[in-house]
Amino acid sequence: MRITSVEAIPLEAPLEKLVNRARQTVPLKARRSLLVRITTDEGLVGLGEGLTPVAPEAAAKVVERVLAPFLIGRDPLDSEPIWEKLYATNSSRGYSRGYQMIAISAVDIALWDLKGLILGQPVYRLLGGAFLDRVPVYATGLMIEKETQAILDLAQEYYDQGFRAMKLKIGLDDAQDLETVRTLRRALGPEVRIMVDANGVYDSSTALRIGRRLQELDVFWFEEPTPPEDLAGLARVRAGLDFYVAAGECEYTRFGFRELFLKEAVDVCQPDVARAGGITECRRIAALAQAFNVRYAPHAWGGAVCLAATGHLAASLPNFLICELDRVPNPLRDELTLEPPDFRDGFLHLPDRPGLGLALDEKALERYRLKA
Ligand code: MG
Repeated sequence: MRITSVEAIPLEAPLEKLVNRARQTVPLKARRSLLVRITTDEGLVGLGEGLTPVAPEAAAKVVERVLAPFLIGRDPLDSEPIWEKLYATNSSRGYSRGYQMIAISAVDIALWDLKGLILGQPVYRLLGGAFLDRVPVYATGLMIEKETQAILDLAQEYYDQGFRAMKLKIGLDDAQDLETVRTLRRALGPEVRIMVDANGVYDSSTALRIGRRLQELDVFWFEEPTPPEDLAGLARVRAGLDFYVAAGECEYTRFGFRELFLKEAVDVCQPDVARAGGITECRRIAALAQAFNVRYAPHAWGGAVCLAATGHLAASLPNFLICELDRVPNPLRDELTLEPPDFRDGFLHLPDRPGLGLALDEKALERYRLKA
C-alpha cells in the first residue's frame, strides 16, 4: 500500500466569547487547528491534527512544501523510518521545533490512524494494548475571570458533569488568585483535585511564594509556574515544594524533554501529541519520563483528532496520570467528527473501531475550512 496524497487543511472556528489567559496579550477570538488527511492507493484515509491556536496555514505550508514530497509513494506502515526522515528534512538547519514539529506531529498522527485502518485495530492496540479501558480526565476551562462567582458556577457545572478534577488559570492578581483557590476548595470539598496553571508568568521566587500557599490549599499540581525558557527556575520551584510541579506543553521531542528530566524540573510532564512530535515521539517521551520516574499527563488543547490521538496514547502508557479535557468552547472538537468525543463521568471512552475510530463530518469541515 502506498501514500498517494497528503492534504493539509487549516481550520478556524470563531468564538462568541473571547478566551483569556495571563500570558496572552491578545485573547483568542477563534479556535484554530491544522487537519491533515493522508490517502492511500487503496482509498484509505488517515486523519491527523497539528496544534496551531495561531496561523494553522503556516503549518499547512510546512506539510505541503517540506514533508509531503517525502511521503508520496511511501508505505504508511513504515511510520518509524518515515518519522526519522521527516525530522531529518530540516533538523540540521535548526528546524526541530515550532511549525516544523507541529507539521510532523499532524502527519504522524494521520499515519497511526492509517495503520489502524490497514490492520483493522484501534491505535491503542497497535501501541501494545490499553492499561485502562477508559481514560481519566480533568476539566480545563476555569479561565481568568473578573468575578469569582463565574468561576464557582462553572466549577459546579463540571462537578455535575462528573468531573472530580479541574484546572484553574492564575497569574494576573496574586491575592485574588489565592482567594479564588481557597473559595474553590471550600466549595468543592477535599475529594476534588484542583490543578492550577500559571502559563509561565512568574519568576522562581514569586512562584515559590505562591506555590507554598497553594500547597496549604491541597492543590494537586502547579502547572508552568515559570516560563518554559527558565528550566533552572522551574527546577528551583520543584525542589522547594512538596506537591506536583507540571510542565512541558511548550516542549518538543524527546530531546527537549530530556532537558526537563535531567534538570529534575518536573514531577509531571505534559507533552501535546499534536505539537511535541506525534504519537511516535510522545511514546518515546513517555518512556524517557518513566526512566526518570516522572508521570505523563498530556496537554490537549486541540480538536477531535488531537483528543482521540491523546486518548489512545494515554491508555497505552504505564506512567499515564490523567488527561486534559478542554471544556472551553471548541467547534473543532465537538462538531468536526460525526460522533463527538465520548466523555462520561470523568472519563474519556475510546471507540473500539480501527485506527483513531473517527469519521469526519464533511459539512463541518467545509464550514470551518480557513478561507485563503
Ligand atoms: Mg497549561
